[in-house]
Amino acid sequence: MFAVASIVGAANVNSMEPMPLDKASIARSDFGKTVSGKPVDLYTLRNTAGSEARIITYGGIVVSLKVPDRKGKFGEVVLGLPSIADYEKQASYLGSLIGRYGNRIAKGQFSIDGKTYQLAKNNGENHLHGGPGGFHTAIWNAAPRMTDAGPSLDLIYTSIDGEEGYPGRLDVKVTYTLTNSNELRVDYAATADKPTVVNLTQHSYFNLAGHGSILKHQLQIRGDKFTPTDAGSIPTGELKSVAGTPLDFREPVEIGKRIDADDEQIRFGKGYDHNWVLDKKSGELSLAAVVVESGTGRKMEVLTTEPGLQFYSGNFLDGSLKGNGGFLYAHRTGFCLEAQHFPDSPNKPQFPSAVLRPGDTYKQTTIYRFSVTSN
Ligand code: BGC
Repeated sequence: MFAVASIVGAANVNSMEPMPLDKASIARSDFGKTVSGKPVDLYTLRNTAGSEARIITYGGIVVSLKVPDRKGKFGEVVLGLPSIADYEKQASYLGSLIGRYGNRIAKGQFSIDGKTYQLAKNNGENHLHGGPGGFHTAIWNAAPRMTDAGPSLDLIYTSIDGEEGYPGRLDVKVTYTLTNSNELRVDYAATADKPTVVNLTQHSYFNLAGHGSILKHQLQIRGDKFTPTDAGSIPTGELKSVAGTPLDFREPVEIGKRIDADDEQIRFGKGYDHNWVLDKKSGELSLAAVVVESGTGRKMEVLTTEPGLQFYSGNFLDGSLKGNGGFLYAHRTGFCLEAQHFPDSPNKPQFPSAVLRPGDTYKQTTIYRFSVTSN
């Protein structure tokens, strides 16, 4: 079980007083109440470089992330909503932590040690992102901490035995750190008291220009293969080479270049909504993807310990969400890069296993590293 650490080095945590720019800080404020009356806190993490991450205890959502552009001007790089009511209403998992199982489990069913479990079907006949009451709807216990790397926020949640149909109690701890070198680092850990499946991830929609179409962003993914899906976005089980397909991002390519290509996988995903098999040794923290937005010069590198990366090009955003700054989040105005185990792994013995057994600790680390390019 993960304990909420005492607040260390964050004496200003309950004040919203402006801090000197060269000082890292963490401040807490109220973010309203959920429909069921639960209070939600907002933590503002500021690093020594002046970048800022705003995270709420509902869903562990990153509501805002501001980093510098080529001219040193700080600006928004994630999609976010102004109020808790807006977050409770949306179904796009905007900025949230995802669990117990990121992405889909076919028919919401899987077996461990010969016993079959049935989860909610919340995406056609399949289970998506932990179900309707997944970790994106949980109120997490928060403990801010100042670390040598930068301001940090521990989020702790206990998922009870049987929650959303999953076996075993799961104790989860997620630590967000806004490092002084402009990385948003996410460390995950979980333990269970019965065999279960775990696949935690983060569902921020990035837009390195702050808002507008993402189609001109250049993307590179370090994966030679992907996991093709059926029409319901369930992997067929095959690992297919990206060569000669619109999913070949081994060299940087504009997201928009082939997003509407005449290709079955693109039709199934309504654009990009696929899992790449990352080129790496199992468990090593290594570079998975690089995104560059030439207008602002912002660059984001994604590093992860996970074997897979879901690139989702915001195909289901439809302009119905009004975000921070009053911007409408239209079709393909944000993209997700979700580090993960492969979708439907519990039913695909050939994929890396997502089973967690009592006595073992699930761990994953993903880093979103921001910098600028000169051209
Ligand atoms: C999934 C999409 C889904 C989206 C929800 C993504 O991670 O791959 O299929 O529609 O999340 O916003």
